[in-house]
Amino acid sequence: MEKYCCFLVLAFFSFMGIAQENIDRLDLTKIKEGQVKTFWLEVGNDGFNQPLTVPIIVVKGRETGPVLGLTSAIHGNELNGIAIIHQLIKDLNPEALSGIIVAVPGINRLSIEQHQRLFVDNQDLNRLFPGKKKGNRSQQYVWHLNTKILSKLDFLVDLHTASFGRANSLYVRGDFSVPIIKKLALVQDADILLNSSGAPSAGKSLGENRTLRGEAAFQGVPALTIEYGNPQVFQKEIIPRGINGLKNLMIELDMLSAKKTNVASAIVCKKSYWIYTDAGGILDVIVDLTERVQAGQLVAVLRDYFGKDIKKYFAPEEGVVIGKSTNPINQSGGRIIHLGILENNKSAK
Ligand SMILES: [Zn+2]
Repeated sequence: MEKYCCFLVLAFFSFMGIAQENIDRLDLTKIKEGQVKTFWLEVGNDGFNQPLTVPIIVVKGRETGPVLGLTSAIHGNELNGIAIIHQLIKDLNPEALSGIIVAVPGINRLSIEQHQRLFVDNQDLNRLFPGKKKGNRSQQYVWHLNTKILSKLDFLVDLHTASFGRANSLYVRGDFSVPIIKKLALVQDADILLNSSGAPSAGKSLGENRTLRGEAAFQGVPALTIEYGNPQVFQKEIIPRGINGLKNLMIELDMLSAKKTNVASAIVCKKSYWIYTDAGGILDVIVDLTERVQAGQLVAVLRDYFGKDIKKYFAPEEGVVIGKSTNPINQSGGRIIHLGILENNKSAK
């Protein structure tokens, strides 16, 4: 009978999974070497007066080395990074690791549950760093992320995808004037490497309200933002490339001793910008992701609801298609393509 009870208890726990510990702060010194530990980190309090938590996976290597942060889904509908982190950690042997991985596969918990980019108060968390201790809901949430996670890191990779209605190539954003950042970008299995200081591609600049990568740069933490394809899906062709790139990055940082996976050389861009429509209608973007376009090349056609062409849009200069609209429903000011300007181009803009 006793044996039967033990079996039942074991079966129950293996079915339910072992409950993770809630923590208010992340103390990496308390974790034993050669271990993988999972936690729920408290980052505020919900409407039921319960802790608001995010999932944390810590892999602590046997040997000392840097602390590498991997954060995904700060925009709640950008999910490929979750699968990349899970598979990467599954493949890792902590005994063979030097340093520590702090992974946050789902950093914007409330928005992930709502299948949406923005936080519950319609703010973009990735424009609010470093947050405010006594600010509004999103500012306080960001303040917790900044003080409890970012402050622990030596390096950061922030994993994104395109947003709703758009598609992205696999591309890296980083400040390539910092040699280590360029080095870590070059080992990614990416289509495009985009040199950018840390300001978002549209909207606010790298000022007070920073991106997570901008904040990392501000704090002296070398960081990359990597865009892995499309929103609200797990893309089977993108995820393995993401894992390869992050393993290469760890080898480059001497966190793993293995041979790097060879990656095809990516197109390097010195800058990029979006081209927008100036009229409403049905938008048909003709060019493909990663396509090289020439100055004056037709990139999109706008039609009315009777099927008649209203307007044609052309590339203002030579470049490469980093991202594009996939949503034909377009109001004036809608995005058409995200155009990257190659390092060796003479830029017209
Ligand atoms: Zn994003």
